Amino acid sequence: MSAGNGVVVAIDGPAGTGKSSVSRRLARAIRARYLDTGAMYRMVTLAVLRAGVDPFDADAVGRIGSTVQMSVGHDHDGDRYYLAGEDVSAEIRGDEVTRNVSAVSAVPTVRARLVGLQRSMAEGPGNVVVEGRDIGTVVLPDAALKIFLTASAETRARRRNDQNVASGLPDDYAGVLADVRRRDHLDSTRPVSPLRAASDAVVVDTSDMTESEVIDHLLDLVRQKSEAVR
Ligand code: C5P
Repeated sequence: MSAGNGVVVAIDGPAGTGKSSVSRRLARAIRARYLDTGAMYRMVTLAVLRAGVDPFDADAVGRIGSTVQMSVGHDHDGDRYYLAGEDVSAEIRGDEVTRNVSAVSAVPTVRARLVGLQRSMAEGPGNVVVEGRDIGTVVLPDAALKIFLTASAETRARRRNDQNVASGLPDDYAGVLADVRRRDHLDSTRPVSPLRAASDAVVVDTSDMTESEVIDHLLDLVRQKSEAVR
């Protein structure tokens, strides 16, 4: 699928592959709109936690997921996320949301609502980069370019732990590795939209690549697709 004359790029993969940073940089490089679908699941999770609801209570989570008001905007700092008009961009990255988001995102009514919103947000003119877990398989199965970023669990845990330490959090590689494995397991075994590469996705293992090498590789792929959809 191409939006107007643009290219739709779907980027999927597990946590810690550098996906968010790579997707944002790619979007800037090709002047694309950018959508972080994980942030939307995080917003629903924050709403669930604030309501005092158990994230494993699928009915209650589903009720919140189908009614919560959310929107996405952009300012000079990048993308911003709003829950009923309140800017929650920082809060949705917190530990409590991160620990509970896999349970919330496994609820089918939550997924159905967010997939619908994501499809309408991805429509429009020009290039668009949409990042998540099920973009190439479910949200935008006709995307012109599908990328599946991977890296070993150890590499991903090391990167995340380094980021935590750099931002003042304690050095806890073993704890981070356990969390990476737990989220991988929950995301890839859930019955609805499990994390997997689309059959026509280009799989890129970033374990031994720098971020700039990954971007260069993706830019090559986008160039090839742009020529093909022209
Ligand atoms: O990308 P991020 O780590 O912020 O995503 C948070 C969580 O949201 C993931 O661990 C996954 O459980 C869920 N998610 C999803 N489908 C997407 C994007 C994210 O289930 N398209």
